[in-house]
Amino acid sequence: MSNVQQIISAAKRHLNKKDVELIKKAYNFAERVHSGQKRLSGEPYFIHAVETAKILASIDMDAQTIATGLLHDTIEDLRTTEEEVGKEFGEDILFLIKGVTKLGTLKYRGHERHVESLRKFFVAMANDIRVVIIKLADRLHNLRTLEYVREDKRKRIALESIEVYAQLASRLGIRKLKGEIEDTAFPYVYPKESAQVDEIIKEKKLSYQKSLSEIQKILALELKKNKVKVAKFDSRMKHKYSLWKKLTKKEMDIEKIYDIVALRVVVETVEECYRVLGIIHSLWKPLPGRIKDYIAVPKPNGYRSIHTTIITENGIAEIQVRTEQMDIEANYGVAAHFAYKDQDDKKPLDNKEKFKWIEELNNLHYAPGDPKNFLEHLKMDFFSRRIFIFTPKGDVIDLPEDSCPIDFAFSVHSDVGYHITGSRVNGKISPIFSKLHNGDMVEIITKKDAKPSVKWLESVKTSIAKKHIRSYLEKNTLLSKLKSFGKS
Ligand code: MN
Repeated sequence: MSNVQQIISAAKRHLNKKDVELIKKAYNFAERVHSGQKRLSGEPYFIHAVETAKILASIDMDAQTIATGLLHDTIEDLRTTEEEVGKEFGEDILFLIKGVTKLGTLKYRGHERHVESLRKFFVAMANDIRVVIIKLADRLHNLRTLEYVREDKRKRIALESIEVYAQLASRLGIRKLKGEIEDTAFPYVYPKESAQVDEIIKEKKLSYQKSLSEIQKILALELKKNKVKVAKFDSRMKHKYSLWKKLTKKEMDIEKIYDIVALRVVVETVEECYRVLGIIHSLWKPLPGRIKDYIAVPKPNGYRSIHTTIITENGIAEIQVRTEQMDIEANYGVAAHFAYKDQDDKKPLDNKEKFKWIEELNNLHYAPGDPKNFLEHLKMDFFSRRIFIFTPKGDVIDLPEDSCPIDFAFSVHSDVGYHITGSRVNGKISPIFSKLHNGDMVEIITKKDAKPSVKWLESVKTSIAKKHIRSYLEKNTLLSKLKSFGKS
């Protein structure tokens, strides 16, 4: 099978003739631009573009996004121009490529305190969720070839992948990418622990699978008796990294983890999901406190399913019940919404719960059944009221619009705030009251005897700065009053 055929057959959704043409065109274009270039692994550079596109196809993305996967590194190359790409592929694809290229400049330096800001900054810079998704696919392939990267860089890239990229995939509900990014990065960040988990899995896998297939047999029979049509049985093994995270919370005791493997029952309707739950509980006793109805109350990233943990004679097992649509969304999250553009029967859901994390920063509403509107909304500025400021070390701190260096100083540390006397913005001396702008790099100059003044309150925007300045002023006016009282 040729490379381009591999991409097309990796697609989860149906691609029409026009889609296939676009992908082929992007393929030929990228192949020409990257010809002669090599990766650190010695492979032709173009393989990276192909693999990125394959990953995007496999998580249910649309043809435009798959094509962008092929083209994502082309404008970095001097053998083509933005004009040429725009002329050949249109403004939409050019916009996506430029977004991906821009994100490439962002570096994580391992300062955990501000990781959350970095994630927000990443999404803000991207402007379009598809850019983030392409970047996630790009990173996953880079992780797969990480062994060829210089040793001192490996750990930084792997840690960044876990802290920033996998978390973003999780927030977007793309569990497939989240799991793969984490598991590929895991051995580079925590080699010993990863080997330990491999051992555990090797030891337990078979017995777990045996007991699951036993459960499946019994359940299938009972469902048939009750005339419930099962679309699909499926079993999944917990991803290695998330298993390890869980182990660390359970004193490394594998017996305390009940969802290392889970049986999935996919049925047609929501009503059937609840019927299946009832039937499961009539066959086995559920473990109290472990019945979770994420259909009635979805997780913040939109995940929906019913989970229950049952006690069988072979031990404890988790069963997950969901509809087909929920199953697709569970794996592909936001990406799943690109899949049903032209299928009337599977419209995206109007689910306000879905993007809580993004919604908290701004709204990502879209009309149900209107994919075009949905795409439009993906392009909006999620973070219009926030700005992202870098410390000299490369940490990102997010602040409200119109914040000034005093706000920044207090966000770094209250002591820095109390003693700020000047600031350098992008290397230039600037007043501590000046307005900061997105992407500024700010350095704070402090002096031991500098102290807050009433005037500061007029310029600061953050509540943390206001709080500290006020409490300082209150304390000190009281003090000076006391002092002058003592003197008279
Ligand atoms: Mn790349």
